Amino acid sequence: MSQLAMLGGPRAIPSTPANVEWPVVTSADEEAVLRVLRRGALASGSPDEPEVPALESEWAQHVGVRHCAGVSSGTAALQLALAALDVGPGDEVVVPAVSMNATAHAVRAVGGTPVFADIDPVTFTIDPASVAAVLSLRTAAVMPVHLHGLPADMAGLRALTEPVGIPLVEDAAQAHGATYEGVRTGALGTVGCFSLHPSKNLPSCAEGGLVTTDDPKVHERIAGLRQFGERPRQAVRTYVAYTEGGNHKLSPIAAAFTRSQLARFDEYAKVRQTLVTDFLHRLRDLPGLVRPTCPEDRDHAWHILRFRLDPTAWDHADLPTWAVRRVLHKALRAEGVPMSSYQVLPLPAQPAFRGKQDCFPVATAVLQDSLCLQRRHLNPGSGPALVQYADAITKVWEHLPELVTREAA
Ligand SMILES: *Cc1c(COP(=O)(O)O)cnc(C)c1O
Repeated sequence: MSQLAMLGGPRAIPSTPANVEWPVVTSADEEAVLRVLRRGALASGSPDEPEVPALESEWAQHVGVRHCAGVSSGTAALQLALAALDVGPGDEVVVPAVSMNATAHAVRAVGGTPVFADIDPVTFTIDPASVAAVLSLRTAAVMPVHLHGLPADMAGLRALTEPVGIPLVEDAAQAHGATYEGVRTGALGTVGCFSLHPSKNLPSCAEGGLVTTDDPKVHERIAGLRQFGERPRQAVRTYVAYTEGGNHKLSPIAAAFTRSQLARFDEYAKVRQTLVTDFLHRLRDLPGLVRPTCPEDRDHAWHILRFRLDPTAWDHADLPTWAVRRVLHKALRAEGVPMSSYQVLPLPAQPAFRGKQDCFPVATAVLQDSLCLQRRHLNPGSGPALVQYADAITKVWEHLPELVTREAA
């Protein structure tokens, strides 16, 4: 058994493996961008600009909804969705304690108050029991986040919200193409919000977002809100503002690039499913490594792979799990496995959102006892890299008893 790289031994992965970059940019993607530049219709919302409307109808069809609006980012998508549902000052929106901070920022941006609910320890998505505990007469929406690519427990949430008419706004920024009971994300709530950030499963070459809904009134409002409150896509633009609004338009260049990516999206998702399944299978016998799973009734988009550590699998029960995680993180990175901590603090513990001294035991535990693999596995050519990562993780695990003992000393 070779010595750990952390202790001066040879690195399991000496240099960055091939095909781990994301997004994959092909000549078709380059052509799509050039097509826009050559056409010259660079302004979003003008009648002769075809890329944004084409992406909107292609994505609506992919998701299985009637309407889709292209917007400037995933954050804008969330903010406009809330505004279109009349969420504003005095209203509360329930969001999970673990998400990217944009989920809570969007609530604040419309003047609302984010109210946090804890997450499930296995799926990492919002826990309906915790939502039930914070629902109030001021609750104007519940915002499930399909974290890491796994759809939230929609049945559990609908049971709480449908009888009282509270809309569900999906934050699907990490879950393009995932399904719940056969229905795609973006079609599971009143409104679905997607990000096209280059790091996401459906990337653009810039910033961008998409908002999906079956409700024509919500769609109309979003179309106005993103363009100064004007009537959308007039043959001759009048510049008359009918409602409140701002500038949250999607760039045609970003839309054209994303359309080109969308043409390969299903194929990439299928390959990713196989690669991730194989990767997780290779790690099945490592004691104390809890692999991410997907409930039977869902398809996972595998945007992020989160591994929890189970301290009952090794000696030194007195050692806090965060300490074991810290030493494992160091050892893995030294071998060349790019593990990361996705979110270092629950949202309610972040300075911008600190309200009451609530405690979120599951969110706190998950963020302290887990490590994530991000982005490297999104490339459909990452299979050989994932084999190398699995071998390197196995090497570190062979040294686990020694690492834990050292840490405890
Ligand atoms: C990325 C992300 C967002 C924000 O999307 P942007 O396009 O970066 O504004 C919102 N929610 C979640 C869960 C995300 O991962």
